[in-house]
Amino acid sequence: MNTSDFRKHAHELVDWMADYFENVEDYPVLPDIKPGQILNQIPNNAPDKADPFEAIFKDFKDVIMPGITHWESPNFMAYFPANKSKASVLAEMLMSTLGSQCMIWLTSPAAAELEEQVMIWLREMLGLSSNYTGVIQDTASTATLCALLTAREKATAFAINEDGFGEQKFTVYASSEIHSSIEKAVKIAGFGASQFRQVPVDENFAMRAEVLAETIQKDIAAGFLPICVVSAIGTTSTTAVDPIAKISEICKRHNIWHHVDAAYAGTALVLPELRWMSEGVDEADSFVFNPHKWMFTNFDCTAYFVKDPVALVNTFTITPDYLKTSVDEEVKNYRDWGIPLGRRFRALKLWFVIREMGVEGIQKKIRAHIALGKWLAQEVIEHPDFELMAPVPLNTVCFRFVGAPPDQLDQINKAIMNEINKSGKLFFTQTKLLDQFTLRLAFGNTNLEAYHVENAWNQIQEVSKTYKQEA
Ligand SMILES: *Cc1c(COP(=O)(O)O)cnc(C)c1O
Repeated sequence: MNTSDFRKHAHELVDWMADYFENVEDYPVLPDIKPGQILNQIPNNAPDKADPFEAIFKDFKDVIMPGITHWESPNFMAYFPANKSKASVLAEMLMSTLGSQCMIWLTSPAAAELEEQVMIWLREMLGLSSNYTGVIQDTASTATLCALLTAREKATAFAINEDGFGEQKFTVYASSEIHSSIEKAVKIAGFGASQFRQVPVDENFAMRAEVLAETIQKDIAAGFLPICVVSAIGTTSTTAVDPIAKISEICKRHNIWHHVDAAYAGTALVLPELRWMSEGVDEADSFVFNPHKWMFTNFDCTAYFVKDPVALVNTFTITPDYLKTSVDEEVKNYRDWGIPLGRRFRALKLWFVIREMGVEGIQKKIRAHIALGKWLAQEVIEHPDFELMAPVPLNTVCFRFVGAPPDQLDQINKAIMNEINKSGKLFFTQTKLLDQFTLRLAFGNTNLEAYHVENAWNQIQEVSKTYKQEA
């Protein structure tokens, strides 16, 4: 492709992208696709001869688009959003054009220095202590793994990096509501899943700090070395908030690393009125949140903050001769701040997003999303045929239809969800709370308006009516 063809196709694609943003609600949020249906349309072998770009783009529209789940739709209320803004898409275009591989300062000084400054911006925006230093990672899963590995090395004076595991067993703690990435990290870090303690939660689905303290005591008495507690600001199921200050205190007492997973809800800390959630976080050792979930920055972009960047770097540093530079003493070489060597220029999209929206613009949207969460929670509470299943501190609402005999409710709620999702007008998912099938709506799309949430609630009420029985 020569430059003039590139110019022509790029303009076509940008037109297509703008149309997509305008018309995204015309697509079914969840595609009605059978397993293998897309695969069967893709040739078994790579083409020997070049395909014209027109043919490739046509197949993108005809073959790929029908199999896309539209995360960009305001009617996408499943999982957590992975929202974005147009500014972040434009930045991503520049990033891929530059193709910068930002492993060390020298391989793009602007990328390293912009990352350093943008992470300071984020830290200030969230009201985190200036004792935190930030670095961008690909996902929260990776950041949590970094926390566990750093905790492991710091607690053992870097002995496991050097000699591998000995006889000592190490324990890791989180609540029973914690994200699956924690258990995955426990396994990868070599602690063993059987050394992972899931502390029970209270009626608000938050970790019971007194049980954590007892469990740690027992483990110490049994000869284990507690390494890390992972707490959550905003669990995945219900956005429950663990008692961060109490957990920090327990960790300090036993010299245990406290890692705070705020992957989704961290963005809400841009609102001063929500800083109650992060009380005690300045006493923790590390904190992670995902601008790629709720802060209008397209996937992927994770912000990881640590108190002790030297321990982080010492855990990961390896400097082969071919990567040494004359400025290593003066600069940040982010390859040592995480697992992969190669790094994308993710700071660029954060910089675009924060500047294009302004902190106030971000706050305004987040506030509006949270107000809609409160609105829906109130609607559910007031409806005799529905029951709110968990507190709603943010914009994730867990509830269920209860207008039928109790022994049928799991099945009926599942049927309601499947029927609506199949319609393509709305996509939401379920969770299990107190062993009950629970409908869960989480909305944070950039273009979400009140009427999207009202429509979603209306659809759920309409479909539920058909299942109504006198109890
Ligand atoms: C989404 C989520 C994660 C995982 O995030 P990734 O960036 O996809 O790894 C971890 N913890 C919580 C609480 C989450 O909501």
